[in-house]
Amino acid sequence: MSETTQREAMTRLAKSMFERGLTFGSSGNISVRLDDGWLMTPTGSTLGTLDPARISKLDEDGTHVAGDKPTKESFLHRVMYDQRPGTGAVVHLHSTHSVAVSCLADIDPKNVLPPITAYYVMKIGTLPLVPYYPPGDLNLAKAVEEMASNHHAVLLANHGPVVAGRSLEDAVYATEELEETAKLFLLLKNKETRFLTEAQISDLGKRF
Ligand SMILES: [Zn+2]
Repeated sequence: MSETTQREAMTRLAKSMFERGLTFGSSGNISVRLDDGWLMTPTGSTLGTLDPARISKLDEDGTHVAGDKPTKESFLHRVMYDQRPGTGAVVHLHSTHSVAVSCLADIDPKNVLPPITAYYVMKIGTLPLVPYYPPGDLNLAKAVEEMASNHHAVLLANHGPVVAGRSLEDAVYATEELEETAKLFLLLKNKETRFLTEAQISDLGKRF
């Protein structure tokens, strides 16, 4: 896919997520892998009105070479690419229901959400919680780095999800599945619930 097509796809999907309330203000950022570096949403930009021509471009070394300055959270993206070869895009949002779940006191930090639906199991599977660190703290990058080799999706405590995918669509759809599952989880809280069983989960693994 050409760089121009990638810039247009980033702009289109970012706008779609913004308009559906998955991100707001200047929160959330997206990156895409190119043959010669990365595209990243600029710092302070709103995902609702990205300008394809002003999207930040970084070279192979991560040096900013074109467009506006990249998001201050670019390190969250970089550790995902470094730890997960084959990653084509990374999405990070402050989406409301995912953030709400990331603040709950009684969640399992090894796997935050139960297997509510087959699509969640297939698109996310296991979701570990990354301990809280202030934005920009290098310990946050280190903590994400430690989990990234085993997980394409992680949830930052009191902050939001970071999701890697083979393509931009992959990463966006998985992030949306996570957000909807977080919403379902909150709706079902304190209600007697049937989650998918171990046998049903292993059957999915065989079918897809
Ligand atoms: Zn953030």
